[in-house]
Amino acid sequence: MSVVYLNGEFLTAEKATVSVFDRGFLLGDGVYEVIPAFGGCLFRLGAHLDRLQNSLDAIGLQNPLTFEHWENTLNQLIAENSHPQLSIYLQVTRGVAVRDHAFPADIKPSIFAMANPIQKLAESDFQNGVGAITLLDNRWQRCDIKAISLLPNVLLRQQAVEQGVAEAILIRDGNVTEGSASNVFVVLNGKIITPPKSQYILPGITRDLVLELAIANNMNCAEEIITQDMLLSAEEVWLTSSTKEVLAVTKLDDKAVGSGKPGPVWQVMTDIYREYKNGLLNH
Ligand code: PMP
Repeated sequence: MSVVYLNGEFLTAEKATVSVFDRGFLLGDGVYEVIPAFGGCLFRLGAHLDRLQNSLDAIGLQNPLTFEHWENTLNQLIAENSHPQLSIYLQVTRGVAVRDHAFPADIKPSIFAMANPIQKLAESDFQNGVGAITLLDNRWQRCDIKAISLLPNVLLRQQAVEQGVAEAILIRDGNVTEGSASNVFVVLNGKIITPPKSQYILPGITRDLVLELAIANNMNCAEEIITQDMLLSAEEVWLTSSTKEVLAVTKLDDKAVGSGKPGPVWQVMTDIYREYKNGLLNH
C-alpha cells in the first residue's frame, strides 16, 4: 500500500480521506503538478514549483507551503515510496466549505500528494512511435493554468483511445495548440518547431527542456505557430511530457508521418535527452 501526503500527514492511501465538501471534489477548484523523480531525485523541481506558483496566482490561491517545505515534503514522500522512477502528483484545492461558486472567506486549502511508479512506455511504442488523431481544441481560454478540472481533456483523450491511438493533437482556429496531455513539436524542412507559449497551451517543463537542449546543441529550432497544414506535412511529429519524455508520432489521422518510423531528428534529440538525464543521475 502506497503512502500519500494529506494536509501535513503521511498516511497509507486507504486512510487518506477528504471531505465531500472539498471544493476540489464539488467544483474542480484547484491546481496540480506532476513531477518525475528519477533515482530518488526530483527532476526540474524549481521549474515545476514555479509553474505551481503561476497556477495558484492565476486562481487567487496563496501557496500554502514554501519552496523548502514542498521540497522536504516531496522528498519524504519519495523515501516512503522508494522506486527508481516515480511520478509525483500534487494538488492544492481551495479547501472545504459550504458549496458556493464565490471564494469562501477564511478557508484552508487542501494539500495532497502521491507518488506512483511511472508507467513504462512499451519499448515498441518508443522504438516505432505511436498513433495520434487531430481534434478540435474545445477547451477554455486558460489552458496555461494546470487546473484539476480536466473534463475537456478527459473527453478528448478518450476519443483518441476509442480510435486506438495514443494522443489527440488539438487544433484551435486552424493552428496546433498541444496534445490532450502533452506538448507538440514538428520537424519541418529540418527545423524543430513548437507553438509559442500562450493562454492556449500548458507551458510544459519537458517542452522547455527540449528547446533548451536543442539550442545548447546548435539544432535548428523555433517557437512558431504551427498550422494544421504544417502539422500534416511535417517530416516528424513529437509529443513531450514529463512521463512520455520525447515520443515520436508516426501515424496521424491514419496517414504515416514522414517515413512512418521515428525520424532522424527525434533520434538525435532522444540521445541528447537521455544523456542529460543520465548526467543528472550520476551527480
Ligand atoms: N500539456 C498538457 C495539457 C498536459 O497535461 C501536459 C502534461 N501533464 C503537458 C502539456 C506536458 O507538460 P510537462 O512536460 O510539464 O509534463
